[in-house]
Amino acid sequence: MSRSLFLKAIQRQNTSGPVAFGSGTSIACHEIMQQVGATFPAGHTYPEAMFKIALAGHTLVGLDVVMPLFSVCHEAAAMGCRVNWGAPDMMPESGPAIFQTSNDIRIPADLLVRPGCAVPLQALAMLRKELGEAAAVCGKVIGVWTQAYHYFGLEEFLIKTITEPDEVKRILEQLIPVVVQFARAQLEAGADCLLLADHATRDLCSPRTYEKFLQEIHAYLVETIPVPLILHICGNTADRINMIDRTMVACFHYDTKAGAPETVRKLAGERLALMGGINNIRLLQDSPDEIATQATAAAAAVIDVIGPECAIPLGTPLANLQAITAIKN
Ligand SMILES: [Zn+2]
Repeated sequence: MSRSLFLKAIQRQNTSGPVAFGSGTSIACHEIMQQVGATFPAGHTYPEAMFKIALAGHTLVGLDVVMPLFSVCHEAAAMGCRVNWGAPDMMPESGPAIFQTSNDIRIPADLLVRPGCAVPLQALAMLRKELGEAAAVCGKVIGVWTQAYHYFGLEEFLIKTITEPDEVKRILEQLIPVVVQFARAQLEAGADCLLLADHATRDLCSPRTYEKFLQEIHAYLVETIPVPLILHICGNTADRINMIDRTMVACFHYDTKAGAPETVRKLAGERLALMGGINNIRLLQDSPDEIATQATAAAAAVIDVIGPECAIPLGTPLANLQAITAIKN
Protein backbone atom coordinates (compact mmCIF):
# COMPACT_ATOMS: atom_id res chain seq x y z
CA MET A 1 0.00 0.00 0.00
CA SER A 2 1.14 3.51 -0.78
CA ARG A 3 1.14 4.69 2.84
CA SER A 4 3.66 2.15 4.11
CA LEU A 5 5.66 2.28 0.86
CA PHE A 6 6.08 6.03 1.22
CA LEU A 7 6.89 5.98 4.93
CA LYS A 8 9.54 3.30 4.39
CA ALA A 9 11.00 5.20 1.44
CA ILE A 10 11.52 8.44 3.39
CA GLN A 11 13.45 6.45 6.00
CA ARG A 12 15.41 4.31 3.48
CA GLN A 13 13.97 1.15 5.01
CA ASN A 14 13.45 -0.70 1.76
CA THR A 15 15.96 0.49 -0.84
CA SER A 16 15.69 -2.74 -2.85
CA GLY A 17 11.87 -2.55 -3.04
CA PRO A 18 9.67 -0.55 -5.41
CA VAL A 19 10.37 3.18 -5.62
CA ALA A 20 7.88 5.64 -4.08
CA PHE A 21 6.42 8.73 -5.73
CA GLY A 22 5.55 11.98 -4.07
CA SER A 23 6.32 15.53 -3.12
CA GLY A 24 6.30 17.40 0.16
CA THR A 25 5.49 20.67 -1.59
CA SER A 26 2.47 21.82 -3.59
CA ILE A 27 1.25 19.71 -6.53
CA ALA A 28 -1.63 22.10 -7.23
CA CYS A 29 -2.06 23.20 -10.84
CA HIS A 30 -4.94 24.64 -12.89
CA GLU A 31 -5.87 21.34 -14.52
CA ILE A 32 -6.14 19.57 -11.16
CA MET A 33 -8.17 22.41 -9.71
CA GLN A 34 -10.57 22.31 -12.68
CA GLN A 35 -11.02 18.57 -12.42
CA VAL A 36 -11.75 18.53 -8.69
CA GLY A 37 -13.93 21.65 -8.73
CA ALA A 38 -11.89 23.63 -6.23
CA THR A 39 -9.49 26.46 -6.88
CA PHE A 40 -7.16 29.02 -5.27
CA PRO A 41 -7.47 31.04 -3.11
CA ALA A 42 -10.18 28.78 -1.55
CA GLY A 43 -7.60 25.96 -1.56
CA HIS A 44 -5.71 27.89 1.12
CA THR A 45 -8.60 29.13 3.22
CA TYR A 46 -11.37 26.48 3.13
CA PRO A 47 -10.70 22.95 4.43
CA GLU A 48 -12.97 21.26 1.83
CA ALA A 49 -11.24 22.95 -1.12
CA MET A 50 -7.80 22.24 0.37
CA PHE A 51 -8.80 18.59 0.89
CA LYS A 52 -10.06 18.14 -2.68
CA ILE A 53 -6.94 19.57 -4.33
CA ALA A 54 -4.55 17.66 -2.05
CA LEU A 55 -6.43 14.36 -2.52
CA ALA A 56 -5.92 14.65 -6.29
CA GLY A 57 -2.19 14.15 -5.70
CA HIS A 58 -3.07 10.52 -5.02
CA THR A 59 -6.27 9.96 -7.00
CA LEU A 60 -5.39 11.87 -10.20
CA VAL A 61 -1.58 11.92 -10.20
CA GLY A 62 -0.92 8.57 -8.54
CA LEU A 63 1.48 9.82 -5.86
CA ASP A 64 1.94 7.76 -2.69
CA VAL A 65 1.45 10.84 -0.48
CA VAL A 66 -0.83 13.85 -0.22
CA MET A 67 0.12 17.23 1.27
CA PRO A 68 -2.48 19.99 1.67
CA LEU A 69 -0.48 23.09 2.68
CA PHE A 70 0.18 24.70 -0.70
CA SER A 71 1.73 27.98 0.43
CA VAL A 72 4.34 29.18 2.92
CA CYS A 73 1.96 31.57 4.67
CA HIS A 74 -0.12 29.55 7.17
CA GLU A 75 2.00 30.18 10.26
CA ALA A 76 2.53 33.79 9.18
CA ALA A 77 -1.22 34.37 8.98
CA ALA A 78 -1.78 32.79 12.40
CA MET A 79 1.04 34.90 13.88
CA GLY A 80 -0.65 38.10 12.66
CA CYS A 81 0.85 38.89 9.25
CA ARG A 82 -1.56 40.37 6.72
CA VAL A 83 -1.51 37.55 4.16
CA ASN A 84 -2.85 38.12 0.67
CA TRP A 85 -4.17 34.65 -0.22
CA GLY A 86 -3.79 35.35 -3.92
CA ALA A 87 -5.92 34.20 -6.82
CA PRO A 88 -6.32 31.16 -9.10
CA ASP A 89 -3.08 32.15 -10.85
CA MET A 90 -1.26 33.80 -7.96
CA MET A 91 0.26 32.13 -4.89
CA PRO A 92 -0.23 33.80 -1.47
CA GLU A 93 2.09 36.48 -0.16
CA SER A 94 2.74 37.57 3.39
CA GLY A 95 2.28 41.30 4.12
CA PRO A 96 4.64 43.85 5.70
CA ALA A 97 6.89 42.99 8.67
CA ILE A 98 5.19 42.79 12.06
CA PHE A 99 8.24 42.69 14.36
CA GLN A 100 11.37 44.86 14.70
CA THR A 101 13.35 43.04 17.37
CA SER A 102 13.29 39.70 19.18
CA ASN A 103 11.54 41.46 22.09
CA ASP A 104 8.49 42.00 19.87
CA ILE A 105 7.92 38.31 19.23
CA ARG A 106 4.61 37.18 20.72
CA ILE A 107 3.13 33.78 19.97
CA PRO A 108 -0.67 34.10 20.26
CA ALA A 109 -2.18 31.76 22.86
CA ASP A 110 -4.84 30.78 20.32
CA LEU A 111 -2.31 30.19 17.49
CA LEU A 112 -3.69 26.77 16.53
CA VAL A 113 -7.33 27.80 16.36
CA ARG A 114 -6.65 30.83 14.16
CA PRO A 115 -7.68 30.09 10.53
CA GLY A 116 -4.05 30.03 9.25
CA CYS A 117 -3.48 26.88 11.34
CA ALA A 118 -7.03 25.59 11.83
CA VAL A 119 -7.85 25.23 8.11
CA PRO A 120 -4.94 22.91 7.25
CA LEU A 121 -5.48 20.97 10.50
CA GLN A 122 -9.05 20.25 9.40
CA ALA A 123 -7.94 19.31 5.88
CA LEU A 124 -5.30 16.92 7.28
CA ALA A 125 -7.91 15.19 9.42
CA MET A 126 -10.23 14.82 6.39
CA LEU A 127 -7.41 13.38 4.27
CA ARG A 128 -6.42 10.91 6.98
CA LYS A 129 -10.02 9.70 7.31
CA GLU A 130 -10.52 9.42 3.55
CA LEU A 131 -7.26 7.66 2.71
CA GLY A 132 -6.61 5.19 5.52
CA GLU A 133 -3.74 2.99 4.28
CA ALA A 134 -4.20 4.06 0.65
CA ALA A 135 -1.67 6.91 0.83
CA ALA A 136 0.52 8.69 3.34
CA VAL A 137 -0.58 12.08 4.64
CA CYS A 138 2.21 14.62 4.94
CA GLY A 139 1.84 17.86 6.88
CA LYS A 140 4.06 20.90 6.50
CA VAL A 141 5.73 23.34 8.83
CA ILE A 142 7.74 26.39 7.87
CA GLY A 143 11.18 26.57 9.43
CA VAL A 144 12.31 29.41 11.65
CA TRP A 145 14.56 30.95 8.99
CA THR A 146 11.71 31.38 6.49
CA GLN A 147 9.29 32.47 9.21
CA ALA A 148 11.72 35.20 10.21
CA TYR A 149 11.53 36.61 6.65
CA HIS A 150 7.80 37.04 7.09
CA TYR A 151 7.95 38.67 10.52
CA PHE A 152 11.03 40.89 10.11
CA GLY A 153 11.16 41.44 6.34
CA LEU A 154 13.52 39.48 4.08
CA GLU A 155 16.15 42.15 3.60
CA GLU A 156 16.07 43.41 7.19
CA PHE A 157 16.47 39.88 8.50
CA LEU A 158 19.36 39.03 6.20
CA ILE A 159 21.16 42.23 7.22
CA LYS A 160 20.74 41.24 10.88
CA THR A 161 22.46 37.90 10.19
CA ILE A 162 25.61 39.91 9.47
CA THR A 163 25.27 42.88 11.83
CA GLU A 164 23.51 41.26 14.81
CA PRO A 165 24.19 37.50 14.87
CA ASP A 166 23.24 37.15 18.54
CA GLU A 167 19.91 38.85 17.92
CA VAL A 168 19.29 36.49 14.99
CA LYS A 169 19.94 33.53 17.29
CA ARG A 170 17.40 34.92 19.77
CA ILE A 171 14.84 35.42 17.00
CA LEU A 172 15.28 31.90 15.63
CA GLU A 173 15.14 30.33 19.08
CA GLN A 174 11.96 32.21 20.00
CA LEU A 175 10.27 31.01 16.82
CA ILE A 176 10.96 27.31 17.50
CA PRO A 177 7.73 26.89 19.58
CA VAL A 178 5.65 28.03 16.58
CA VAL A 179 7.10 25.15 14.54
CA VAL A 180 6.77 22.61 17.36
CA GLN A 181 3.20 23.57 18.31
CA PHE A 182 1.95 23.49 14.73
CA ALA A 183 3.84 20.23 14.06
CA ARG A 184 2.32 18.48 17.08
CA ALA A 185 -1.17 19.65 16.14
CA GLN A 186 -0.70 18.27 12.60
CA LEU A 187 0.35 14.89 14.01
CA GLU A 188 -2.75 14.85 16.20
CA ALA A 189 -4.85 15.67 13.13
CA GLY A 190 -3.44 12.58 11.40
CA ALA A 191 -0.24 13.54 9.55
CA ASP A 192 2.15 10.58 9.15
CA CYS A 193 5.18 12.76 8.47
CA LEU A 194 6.00 16.43 7.99
CA LEU A 195 7.77 18.54 5.45
CA LEU A 196 9.99 21.11 7.13
CA ALA A 197 10.42 23.91 4.60
CA ASP A 198 13.25 26.31 5.38
CA HIS A 199 14.51 28.55 2.60
CA ALA A 200 18.15 28.45 3.58
CA THR A 201 19.10 28.50 -0.07
CA ARG A 202 22.66 29.33 -1.17
CA ASP A 203 21.96 32.86 -2.42
CA LEU A 204 20.34 33.78 0.94
CA CYS A 205 22.27 31.63 3.41
CA SER A 206 25.92 30.59 3.03
CA PRO A 207 27.04 27.13 4.21
CA ARG A 208 28.77 28.83 7.18
CA THR A 209 25.53 30.63 8.03
CA TYR A 210 23.60 27.36 7.78
CA GLU A 211 26.05 25.71 10.13
CA LYS A 212 26.10 28.64 12.54
CA PHE A 213 22.36 29.36 12.81
CA LEU A 214 20.34 26.44 11.50
CA GLN A 215 21.98 23.03 11.61
CA GLU A 216 21.47 22.74 15.37
CA ILE A 217 17.86 23.95 15.19
CA HIS A 218 17.03 21.46 12.44
CA ALA A 219 18.64 18.69 14.52
CA TYR A 220 16.57 19.81 17.53
CA LEU A 221 13.34 19.66 15.48
CA VAL A 222 14.23 16.17 14.22
CA GLU A 223 14.70 15.06 17.82
CA THR A 224 11.60 16.81 19.18
CA ILE A 225 8.98 16.01 16.54
CA PRO A 226 8.19 12.28 16.78
CA VAL A 227 7.56 11.47 13.09
CA PRO A 228 9.93 11.35 10.11
CA LEU A 229 10.74 14.83 8.82
CA ILE A 230 11.46 15.75 5.22
CA LEU A 231 13.61 18.87 4.97
CA HIS A 232 13.00 21.02 1.91
CA ILE A 233 15.45 23.68 0.83
CA CYS A 234 15.23 25.29 -2.63
CA GLY A 235 18.17 26.11 -4.85
CA ASN A 236 21.63 24.60 -5.06
CA THR A 237 22.31 22.78 -1.78
CA ALA A 238 25.30 20.69 -2.92
CA ASP A 239 27.51 22.55 -0.42
CA ARG A 240 25.35 21.63 2.62
CA ILE A 241 23.93 18.16 2.01
CA ASN A 242 26.51 16.70 4.41
CA MET A 243 25.41 19.21 7.10
CA ILE A 244 21.78 18.30 6.42
CA ASP A 245 22.71 14.63 6.86
CA ARG A 246 24.25 15.46 10.24
CA THR A 247 20.90 16.83 11.51
CA MET A 248 19.66 13.19 11.25
CA VAL A 249 16.60 14.33 9.30
CA ALA A 250 14.99 11.31 7.61
CA CYS A 251 14.69 12.70 4.11
CA PHE A 252 15.87 15.67 2.06
CA HIS A 253 13.59 17.07 -0.66
CA TYR A 254 16.16 18.58 -2.98
CA ASP A 255 16.10 21.01 -5.88
CA THR A 256 17.71 19.74 -9.11
CA LYS A 257 20.05 22.79 -9.02
CA ALA A 258 22.01 20.70 -6.50
CA GLY A 259 23.04 18.40 -9.35
CA ALA A 260 22.21 15.26 -11.31
CA PRO A 261 20.45 12.53 -9.29
CA GLU A 262 23.57 10.35 -9.05
CA THR A 263 25.65 13.33 -7.83
CA VAL A 264 23.10 14.20 -5.15
CA ARG A 265 22.84 10.53 -4.15
CA LYS A 266 26.62 10.42 -3.68
CA LEU A 267 26.60 13.65 -1.61
CA ALA A 268 23.78 12.34 0.59
CA GLY A 269 25.50 9.08 1.42
CA GLU A 270 23.74 5.93 2.55
CA ARG A 271 21.58 7.13 5.47
CA LEU A 272 19.76 10.19 4.15
CA ALA A 273 16.68 9.49 1.99
CA LEU A 274 16.17 11.74 -1.04
CA MET A 275 13.01 13.10 -2.62
CA GLY A 276 12.64 14.96 -5.93
CA GLY A 277 14.54 14.56 -9.19
CA ILE A 278 12.10 16.28 -11.56
CA ASN A 279 13.01 19.80 -12.68
CA ASN A 280 10.10 22.27 -12.46
CA ILE A 281 10.78 24.18 -15.69
CA ARG A 282 10.96 20.92 -17.59
CA LEU A 283 7.80 19.75 -15.86
CA LEU A 284 6.09 22.85 -17.23
CA GLN A 285 7.53 22.71 -20.76
CA ASP A 286 8.62 19.19 -21.73
CA SER A 287 6.56 16.34 -23.12
CA PRO A 288 5.31 13.47 -20.95
CA ASP A 289 7.92 11.16 -22.57
CA GLU A 290 10.75 13.49 -21.58
CA ILE A 291 9.42 13.69 -18.00
CA ALA A 292 9.23 9.90 -17.84
CA THR A 293 12.89 9.74 -18.94
CA GLN A 294 13.82 12.09 -16.08
CA ALA A 295 11.85 10.01 -13.59
CA THR A 296 13.54 6.82 -14.81
CA ALA A 297 16.97 8.45 -14.39
CA ALA A 298 16.08 9.46 -10.81
CA ALA A 299 14.92 5.90 -10.06
CA ALA A 300 18.19 4.51 -11.49
CA ALA A 301 20.17 6.82 -9.18
CA VAL A 302 18.19 5.48 -6.18
CA ILE A 303 16.31 8.66 -5.40
CA ASP A 304 13.96 7.21 -2.78
CA VAL A 305 10.85 9.26 -3.59
CA ILE A 306 10.50 10.56 -7.14
CA GLY A 307 8.55 13.76 -7.75
CA PRO A 308 8.74 17.48 -8.49
CA GLU A 309 11.67 19.34 -6.90
CA CYS A 310 9.51 22.10 -5.35
CA ALA A 311 5.99 23.60 -5.49
CA ILE A 312 5.02 23.10 -9.13
CA PRO A 313 4.14 25.97 -11.48
CA LEU A 314 0.37 26.47 -11.62
CA GLY A 315 0.40 25.96 -15.41
CA THR A 316 1.96 22.48 -15.17
CA PRO A 317 0.18 20.03 -17.49
CA LEU A 318 -1.50 17.21 -15.56
CA ALA A 319 -0.22 14.73 -18.19
CA ASN A 320 3.36 15.63 -17.18
CA LEU A 321 2.64 14.95 -13.51
CA GLN A 322 1.05 11.65 -14.46
CA ALA A 323 4.10 10.79 -16.59
CA ILE A 324 6.20 10.69 -13.39
CA THR A 325 4.15 7.94 -11.80
CA ALA A 326 3.56 6.15 -15.13
CA ILE A 327 7.06 4.63 -14.83
CA LYS A 328 5.61 2.47 -12.03
CA ASN A 329 4.14 0.11 -14.59
ZN1 LIG B 1 11.49 24.88 -2.96
